[in-house]
Amino acid sequence: MALDLAGAESKRLRERALSVIPGAVNSNIRLSAPPVFFGRASGATLWDVDGRDYIDYVLGQGPHFLGHACERVNAAVAEACAQGMLFGASQALEVEAAELVLQALGWAERLRLGLTGTECVQAALRLSRAVTGRRKFVRFDGHYHGWLDNVLISPDERARQASDGQVGEYLNDSFILDWNDADALAELLREHGDSICAVIMEPVMVNTGGIEPRPGYLRRVRELCDQYGVVLIFDEVITGFRVARGGAVERYGVVPDLAIYGKAIGGGWPVAAVAGRADLMDEFGSGRVNHSGTFNGSVMAAAAVVATQRLLAENSPYDRVADYGNALMKGLAAVAADHGVALNVHGLPAAFHVSLGPQMPVPDLRTLNELDLAGYAALTDRFVAQGLWVMRRGIWFVSAAHGDAELDRTLDRFGAALGGAS
Ligand code: PLP
Repeated sequence: MALDLAGAESKRLRERALSVIPGAVNSNIRLSAPPVFFGRASGATLWDVDGRDYIDYVLGQGPHFLGHACERVNAAVAEACAQGMLFGASQALEVEAAELVLQALGWAERLRLGLTGTECVQAALRLSRAVTGRRKFVRFDGHYHGWLDNVLISPDERARQASDGQVGEYLNDSFILDWNDADALAELLREHGDSICAVIMEPVMVNTGGIEPRPGYLRRVRELCDQYGVVLIFDEVITGFRVARGGAVERYGVVPDLAIYGKAIGGGWPVAAVAGRADLMDEFGSGRVNHSGTFNGSVMAAAAVVATQRLLAENSPYDRVADYGNALMKGLAAVAADHGVALNVHGLPAAFHVSLGPQMPVPDLRTLNELDLAGYAALTDRFVAQGLWVMRRGIWFVSAAHGDAELDRTLDRFGAALGGAS
């Protein structure tokens, strides 16, 4: 029998919401979340409107790498916004935000702020088409690049449109390959290289299974892109400022031509960015390639980026987050083993994947699909009922606000959930 996860106040709010908000959510991604309404959050903890607390491993779908309601970032944003928010022209904090992010990345020379990862992906693709004069791009099965017509694919069937009303023909602009298979990319480029403007990928496939690149894969992709004059785009919307301050580029040492950032770049405030080589990015500045947006580089967004980047620079949380994530991954597997449950836990400590199934390496989608993903998804209601806020698709995000107390409580609650399940 399905667990009743919503308290009385959540139920009342959902009833009201259903008559004014389609599906009671403002993003379709949340249609699959339990019908709980939240009232407040602090650090690693959420409280729902009925007063129940949850240790949070969703973190707003990734942005709250610093934890919820980070006082320093929120105070900086409030103070800056008290002086005005949008001028329809440039303002000082935009410059500082760009300088700090570029310093943190090390490799990129220019940066444009936007609001969402989805639109910054489109800016990078448009720029790639403009500088190469080619139309098609390469992307990979299981990777998510936002919800617009040319990138939204069905999770079940490669190259199939995922939404009614989507212009499916726009998907013909891309070749969809298996990721982590450099030979497949080499073969495609041999045949179609002169019509391909870009290769875009999540450099760690967090959105489907938290899968890391095979050793040498990113370097080989870089070489192939150089050989065929193709722009290499890393979609670091999740990995940026999370798996390392410099994201996957820092972790794996392979440099793209362009990269997209979002989520953790601004401590939970709505802001994203496209960054990259000056000779490419300056096409936006020349006016030949259009990248626009009323809210781009607002005082709110720029102040959030500046405060977040300063905080990350002054007090690096990356070792602490890695220690916590590693202890949590080990702890979850051990608690599961105590309950006779085979749990597969793999990925990076700041963003890992949990499923039912034997512990084994997961290098690709085929291996991932050998695990019992549906069985795990069915169990997640039990975790939520015990006060662990987790995603059904098995990705766990860790923040700088998770500490020893959260670790102990998480493992207790996880055990209680599995105890109830067996
Ligand atoms: N790219 C990746 C890798 C993402 O995970 C997401 C969102 O989850 C996006 C792009 C789209 O970003 P947004 O939801 O800010 O539009």
